[in-house]
Amino acid sequence: MSEGQQERQFEKGAGSVQLSAEAIATRVRALGAQITQDYSGEPLHFICVLNGAFVFMSDLVRRVDLPVTMDFLSVSSYGSRTESSGEVRLVKDLDTSLKGKHVLLVEDIVDTGLTMTYLLSYLQGRGPLSVKVASLLSKPSRREVEVPIDYLGFEIEDAYVYGYGLDKAHVGRNIPFITSQA
Ligand code: 5GP
Repeated sequence: MSEGQQERQFEKGAGSVQLSAEAIATRVRALGAQITQDYSGEPLHFICVLNGAFVFMSDLVRRVDLPVTMDFLSVSSYGSRTESSGEVRLVKDLDTSLKGKHVLLVEDIVDTGLTMTYLLSYLQGRGPLSVKVASLLSKPSRREVEVPIDYLGFEIEDAYVYGYGLDKAHVGRNIPFITSQA
């Protein structure tokens, strides 16, 4: 098993997901190095999808050695908290133009893929030079629409996770690891 595959491994219990702070830090460092290499000195504009991606984004940008700018947006999805309806509403818009910029969209988790599909088409419409995606987590078994994830932290099974920026009923974002346990 390659080092990358090992890093993507997660401890599996009976339907549970557990990612330690150390495992996350190791993976984020590797993603930062990859992004630094891929953009080879070009300025890169990070866009954080609030609220869930704020911890991942703050760690990731500090592992990227490029001239970095950043902005933040927030979306809310109609429907219940745990089941995305696919109807996405922009709650907080970007403050700066994307014209002429290489953009990296930073998400916490791609589940059905509906939010990411909406965001990609929204960003593409604002004239960037390019748009790529970084997501800390992905649940491939839940996907309803295929979305490209250029920089992925971990694939996880279908369990509701929280910690490291992600919430469970509005709490838990400050937990330094990721868990699906109660
Ligand atoms: P999608 O549109 O891909 O179905 O949903 C993406 C959004 O759903 C994520 O940005 C996140 O806000 C929320 N989400 C999906 N799965 C989880 C999860 O396991 N835990 C938390 N906290 N949020 C999730």
